[in-house]
Amino acid sequence: MASDLHTHTNFSDGSFSPEELLSAAKKLNLKYLGITDHDTVDAISHLYENGLYPNKGIRIIPGIEFRANNPDHDVHIVGYNIDIYNGTLQDKLNEITESRWERFSEIMQRLQENGFQIKEADVLKIANTSKSIGRSHIARAMVKGGFYKTVREVFENMLQKGKPAYVPRYLPEFDEIVDLIHNCGGIAVLAHPKLIGDDNLVEEICSSGKIESLEVFYPKHTPEDTANYIQLAKKYNLLLTGGSDFHGIASRYVKELGEFTIEDQFAEKFYQPE
Ligand SMILES: [Zn+2]
Ligand SMILES: [Zn+2]
Repeated sequence: MASDLHTHTNFSDGSFSPEELLSAAKKLNLKYLGITDHDTVDAISHLYENGLYPNKGIRIIPGIEFRANNPDHDVHIVGYNIDIYNGTLQDKLNEITESRWERFSEIMQRLQENGFQIKEADVLKIANTSKSIGRSHIARAMVKGGFYKTVREVFENMLQKGKPAYVPRYLPEFDEIVDLIHNCGGIAVLAHPKLIGDDNLVEEICSSGKIESLEVFYPKHTPEDTANYIQLAKKYNLLLTGGSDFHGIASRYVKELGEFTIEDQFAEKFYQPE
């Protein structure tokens, strides 16, 4: 059997509903499934409130993914087994969500000023159930509107730093995120270290004693990257984890759930039976 501890639903920027993700995972016989939406635990509470978590057919590991404030690098932190009803967590998530909405309006205004006839409603249609509105929703709406061919093109021309419709949003500090995860009873993981693009920073974080785990298994890591990160994790006594970062979006790698999995022996260390 195999497991996947990094997936997104349509409560953030994925395309699968939590139910669809679950049934896809069950069909593949995944043993452990980590759900790690950006800045929201709504998919988990949705499953919980509908009697689908805990689940007989699959072991769900509740998670979340944050992005930390860093001027130069994309530093993502995953938290597993956090108490999703923790008040401080809810307050912080509300603050982030609000800032995402403010940025959304501002980006839309800038796109319009730059001659793109795109409306907020077009993006909201794509965002669907998601309250964690992100640039990828906007980019997908731009592609759908025929303004660009790919999401990547939209980012490269309009949405990324230095481009006309780039608007920063509030990002919590690294320490704040890690403390929040720990205060909610969770395990803090440095996500996809290769995407940070600075292995010195990765080692600095690993050696800081602030995190418990490193996401060594990741679709965009080469075998050599994986070997290096495993060595790093062992050096600092960090749990090994990994996942596909599945979004259910055709243009993204991985395309399909099950395309990239990890061994159960790694996933089981994160599982807390209900
Ligand atoms: Zn990420
Ligand atoms: Zn992710």
